[in-house]
Amino acid sequence: MFQRILTANRGEIAVRVVRACREMGIEPVAVYSQADEEALHVQLVEEAYCIGPARAAESYLNMDAILTVAKAANCDAIHPGYGFLSENPDFADACAAAGVAFIGPPGQVIRTMGNKAAARKLMQRAGVPVVPGSDGAVDDAEKAKKVAEAIGYPVLLKAAAGGGGRGMRRVDAPEQMDALFQEARGEALSCFGDGEMYLEKLILHPRHIEVQILADRQGHVIHLGERECSIQRRNQKLLEESPSKALSPQLRQAMTDAAVAAARAAGYENAGTVEFVLDREDHFYFIEMNTRIQVEHPVTELVTGLDLVKEQIRIAVGLPLSVTQEEVFFRGHAIECRVNAEDPAHDFRPSPSTVGFLHLPGGFGVRVDSGLYPGCELTPWYDSLAAKIIVYAPTRLEAIRRMRRSLEELVIEGPVTNTDLLHQILYCPDFIRGSYDTGFLEEHLDTLLAWSGSGEEDEGA
Ligand code: ADP
Ligand code: ADP
Ligand code: MG
Repeated sequence: MFQRILTANRGEIAVRVVRACREMGIEPVAVYSQADEEALHVQLVEEAYCIGPARAAESYLNMDAILTVAKAANCDAIHPGYGFLSENPDFADACAAAGVAFIGPPGQVIRTMGNKAAARKLMQRAGVPVVPGSDGAVDDAEKAKKVAEAIGYPVLLKAAAGGGGRGMRRVDAPEQMDALFQEARGEALSCFGDGEMYLEKLILHPRHIEVQILADRQGHVIHLGERECSIQRRNQKLLEESPSKALSPQLRQAMTDAAVAAARAAGYENAGTVEFVLDREDHFYFIEMNTRIQVEHPVTELVTGLDLVKEQIRIAVGLPLSVTQEEVFFRGHAIECRVNAEDPAHDFRPSPSTVGFLHLPGGFGVRVDSGLYPGCELTPWYDSLAAKIIVYAPTRLEAIRRMRRSLEELVIEGPVTNTDLLHQILYCPDFIRGSYDTGFLEEHLDTLLAWSGSGEEDEGA
């Protein structure tokens, strides 16, 4: 087993990895930027090293600094978390070259799946259904119009290197293509340093359903069921649950089979997620594979009882998966809410601030993953995720009730958060019925904001 693991991340996921290390008898080593000197992930370890200024490009994305620390501190492995360097194939290669295990798939696998246009092609060859769209990249707006004409509008222009919902534009008619192509490419260039674009048919009223995969070096590939992630704002997830109300046993079998086939075709190793959109006629289509631990992984942990970060570590050290497919049992229902430091009443603008009084929910079936403590600083430098509240209960309705009372217990003094909005979602009839798609939040936003009392000051004005 590894003796020492460096966590190349921050926030709740760094805390998550530190906790897994401790329970496995592995010494956790942390890194931090100048903005994170007081962060929880730093305070939880005996050894932490500053790797640069607040700007991520100079710290959490600084490969040289991170590898220098890993070697100087005698770490055998690096856990990249999500975001930052987690899907950077050059970093995975650099780790391998430096003799430090990268807790993730080999660089070459990340490279292939990280180019979403290339991943589509690979999936098509493997017999996994993909959204009708371009055969690889589209170089310019003219070519995009030709493909769009063939598959029919509306279409979605997507950045091949995209992530976090960025670099995507819906195009409804050819006359919009020129402007939107430039816009999407510009965003892709500034976010990912890569302007390669591809095109997919826009699936109307889709659900986002993804399958958790585990694959080891011995060639075992298993799935841990699905997560329903259709509650999204601007293509970013806000609330996730498992199992999905949308899947019949037959459809679940077909989607998990496809996900396992996808992972096999990619030569996958480690934990990974195969994302699909599901249309109203129960057709499902591959959209991308995330080659890392996912933000919403606790939902799967609660319904399977498996620790995904520990499985990642086991796989990276060369051990086989701790369970076979037949030994995976699904129990009950889990829901995760992403509590973000942002103001829904003001176009979700970030609300970084110092946390004053803090009360986190607890009790039977409640898990909180966060980097929060009273007096901690939520900095404007990174994403606005403040805490993940995850609940488990025998049935979906009980899980909904447990999540409502958990959010009622939550008090975070200081930043404005989306807690009330999340709470209102749990009272929305469409949500309770489970009949929702990725358009849910946009459709219901005004009603939900009115219910939650956000924007009161505007009404009074
Ligand atoms: P998940 O399904 O795990 O939520 P996301 O795609 O939303 O996956 O990404 C998780 C985190 O990683 C978010 O904080 C997001 O901002 C960040 N992220 C995703 N892709 C990239 C990327 N290419 N570069 C930098 N950060 C990214
Ligand atoms: P990212 O890498 O940014 O996570 P994805 O390809 O996973 O990008 O897409 C993000 C979200 O955008 C999906 O969860 C879904 O809501 C929406 N989406 C993506 N592709 C399509 C499509 N072809 N039709 C409709 N919605 C889509
Ligand atoms: Mg995605």
